Amino acid sequence: MNHGKIIPMSKRLIIGNWKMNPGTPEEAKKLVRKTKRAALGLVKTEIVVCPPFPFLTACVPRKKEANFKVGAQSVSAEEGVGARTGEVSATMVRAIGAEYAIVGHSEQRKVGESGNSDTDETVSKRLNAALNAGLVVILCVGEKARDENGTYLEELKNQIKNSLLNTPKKFASKIIIAYEPVWAIGAQEAMNSEQIYETSIFVRKIFADVFGADNGLKAKVLYGGAVNFRNAYEIMTVGKVDGLLVGRESVNAPGFVELIKAVDKITA
Ligand code: PEP
Repeated sequence: MNHGKIIPMSKRLIIGNWKMNPGTPEEAKKLVRKTKRAALGLVKTEIVVCPPFPFLTACVPRKKEANFKVGAQSVSAEEGVGARTGEVSATMVRAIGAEYAIVGHSEQRKVGESGNSDTDETVSKRLNAALNAGLVVILCVGEKARDENGTYLEELKNQIKNSLLNTPKKFASKIIIAYEPVWAIGAQEAMNSEQIYETSIFVRKIFADVFGADNGLKAKVLYGGAVNFRNAYEIMTVGKVDGLLVGRESVNAPGFVELIKAVDKITA
């Protein structure tokens, strides 16, 4: 029985994926300062910013900050240290005080563009390296296109299952799924909120297939793709997701601050 013990509600999560922005450390510091200030007053929301590697250390708070954490945009599939030119390991990321890592972002999966060309197999390796280093993982999944007969659901299912194939169940609570339809990333319009709701249920079901019903129920599912301060409220309330993965709007300080406030204001 629960003898009046208050069970803390899990917070909404907003991830700011800065991508290859901004151009200088000064701008990064300014942006992170404004974001941290907005996070201070939040009640139901937690913010994680993911700057490019060179700015990571400058963005990690020196002392614990309310509702504010930092993550990396990717980590190497290899753990620890070693002969891996150009790579940054999850252990290094954790050692400087970052707590999260995005893995499997569609811009890293895109063949020929990032130089990484991630596959489900490399995503799985990065994910396990991040978890072993003590990071919380934001696993990005999403279909390239939608079709009438639902083959996109198969694509989504395979991405999730293959990425989690070699991950022990004990890590289930350290994995957040960011559902990002590739066609909505960088687009003018986000996905329709009813569709976000339907797809998030599907994502949760696949997570439950992998890690069990209990973990499926507890799973955090975020939406990403053309989120801004105008549509964040509707996506959260109608789409019923646990949070948002935000690209462009996260490097636009006034818009990001508005977005954060709009999400924190949601009742229930
Ligand atoms: C992203 O890159 O993860 C993303 C969601 O981008 P944007 O918000 O700019 O569409």
